[in-house]
Amino acid sequence: MNKNEVKEHIRFYMDNYNIYPRTLKTENIGNRDKQFIGDKNKRKCRFCGKEKEETTFKKVAHAIPELVGNKVLISFEECDECNKVFSKLESELANYLSFERSTTGIRGKTGIPTYKHKNGLRIEHDKEKSNRFIIQDYIDSGNIVDDATDNSFTIKGERFPFIPMAVYKCFVKMALSIMPKHYLPYFWETFEWIREEDHSQHGKVVCKVFEQFIPGGKPFADIEMFLAIRKWESREKTPFGIFLICFGNFCYQVYLPFAGPDTIESELEESQETLKYLLLPCKYALVLPEGTIHTISKDFSSSEKTKGQTIDITYSYDKKEVLREFKNES
Ligand SMILES: [Zn+2]
Repeated sequence: MNKNEVKEHIRFYMDNYNIYPRTLKTENIGNRDKQFIGDKNKRKCRFCGKEKEETTFKKVAHAIPELVGNKVLISFEECDECNKVFSKLESELANYLSFERSTTGIRGKTGIPTYKHKNGLRIEHDKEKSNRFIIQDYIDSGNIVDDATDNSFTIKGERFPFIPMAVYKCFVKMALSIMPKHYLPYFWETFEWIREEDHSQHGKVVCKVFEQFIPGGKPFADIEMFLAIRKWESREKTPFGIFLICFGNFCYQVYLPFAGPDTIESELEESQETLKYLLLPCKYALVLPEGTIHTISKDFSSSEKTKGQTIDITYSYDKKEVLREFKNES
């Protein structure tokens, strides 16, 4: 996207949406960084509507999954039953992000996960040196491609099997967790949809994700989120709710299906695909040189397990050293 397009998109969002930003600190956290949703003494689940007489609230519910680095935002509005449903969605997200979390250093509950593949490739975060990774592989496996001409190497990995729609629902769940209360009634069907464990139930749903990759050493040290809710006065046929979350080297943008006002439109139009759905540029879009940010649009509408999806990442380096003990002795 060139700079003029970026500016146009920003203008479009400023004109047509109310934007709600939220940042979660992921390192050097103090008590003051903690954030809470809801009232601890007046429990009511925002997802199923039950109160403490009808359900339990024993588990600590993370409004945003720990696996993307959230340690500070806790929800008092998520009951144990719903929490259990959502933890399955989170497992799917963990599978989808398996390679990225290990290669870009996204810390979860038990630290940065180690990536292990049966072909021998192993990527482990070095606990002694925070910004170092230990990558192990068989010689000439083809998993790591060294390009000495531009001092870079590429690691070829594979995502763990995941259900695309479950991953999408997990993003939507995050958006609904932080949604200002007065908008919640417009998402009643969205709530039902994310709690539905049979992902093929709801018929055709457009699940389009804009995924942005920003190169460099962890450009998003914190988790940065934006909820965009269409202004009532907007005349544009554009989704009612949009959610963008940025962490590590990535931004993921989803739109929130079944939002009240959209449903009426989609009945008229027979398809949500006719809605104008634009990329919300991330904060680096006007700062970094054109072409630096890699953006792709992905379809997450399948409710079938996706297996063997390949993915790669390229690292550049200043200097290469061959350690004596690892030299090929033969
Ligand atoms: Zn609930």
